Amino acid sequence: MHSDELGVELRCTARGRLKKERVSVLTGDRVELDEVDLVRAAAVITARLERQNLLSRPPLANVDQVVIVQAVHQPEWNPLLCDRYLVHFQLELPSAAPLLCLNKCDLAAGEDLEALQKIYAPLGYKMLIVSAKTGQGIDELVRHLTGKVSVLAGPSGVGKSSLINDLDPGLDLKVGVMDNDFGVGRHTTTYSELYRIRLGDDCSVRSSWVADTPGFSLAELKHPEPADLAWQFPEIVELAGLCKFSNCLHVVEQGCNVLANLERLPGTRYRSYATLVAEAQNEMRLRKETSQKVEAAVKAVGGKEGRAKIVPRLSERYRAASRRSERQNLAELDLDSEEIIENDDVDLAGGEDDEPLD
Ligand code: GDP
Ligand code: ZN
Repeated sequence: MHSDELGVELRCTARGRLKKERVSVLTGDRVELDEVDLVRAAAVITARLERQNLLSRPPLANVDQVVIVQAVHQPEWNPLLCDRYLVHFQLELPSAAPLLCLNKCDLAAGEDLEALQKIYAPLGYKMLIVSAKTGQGIDELVRHLTGKVSVLAGPSGVGKSSLINDLDPGLDLKVGVMDNDFGVGRHTTTYSELYRIRLGDDCSVRSSWVADTPGFSLAELKHPEPADLAWQFPEIVELAGLCKFSNCLHVVEQGCNVLANLERLPGTRYRSYATLVAEAQNEMRLRKETSQKVEAAVKAVGGKEGRAKIVPRLSERYRAASRRSERQNLAELDLDSEEIIENDDVDLAGGEDDEPLD
């Protein structure tokens, strides 16, 4: 826990009341402190201040902007992965468009970098081309980070730690050996750490902070329902207004203005869009199937005062056995059957055709 005003780092515990009230304190939260002990560098958190925003993945509060870091090579530039990050962080932090930071530009030819600029700049994304190795573009990155709380997010190995070290060598973050795209390996922490960075002459009124985030697994990256995906792609939004059907998904539909103008869209972007739509549709189908299965496996029976109760439906064999054993139980214990329904989760009501017990 850092204290911005004092410029010291304090180890804080939360007041018991906060725990009782289930107030969680996350990285990035602003808090009120009491019992500040500068000698022991300790304090007690008495309240959490209102949050401006909250990211769920990575769990961080009060973030000003997300800087999506990707490499041109090592790991190889992957347009779909980059677009997945964009969609995820647009959803996580809708208040500020993510910045795209393309690192390791020392490994790429100028025209390849220009080609990538040409895709993203017209869509309204700010793209910074940098190299943690040679220092190219770092000044511009500094300008964007000054006085803000930023999250550097991107797959493992793209150079996030190297960039943070370049910004403030005093931090001396460990630079890892590269692993795969969705690196497990050294990035196994589930929380993010915020570092206060001292940039240049650091004359900004507000300090600058960056969070280095662990790599994401595909399943952790958010995407919306199929029909809402287009909103995450500005170039599709622009064309979608003239589609024949208002619920057009721009994939196979008749009279789709997006499909009619495909040559105007960057090919990699439309492919990313189509892949995400297909994934989202698949996910929806799976969810539906699962909920149908769950529905088939439970059965509503009338409960006390007409309130329906859900009881799992047992297979025929178990249902028969359950009916037998319950009859025995009822005879032996002479219990109120309703209470049994409440306290037990077996199918007391028996098979489908049976009337609920009452
Ligand atoms: P992180 O996992 O995103 O934090 O990536 P690291 O900062 O640990 O860097 C991964 C590897 O890429 C290390 O071997 C770095 O030395 C290397 N690296 C980082 N930035 C650059 C760069 O701009 N150019 C080149 N050529 N290599 C880089
Ligand atoms: Zn359409």
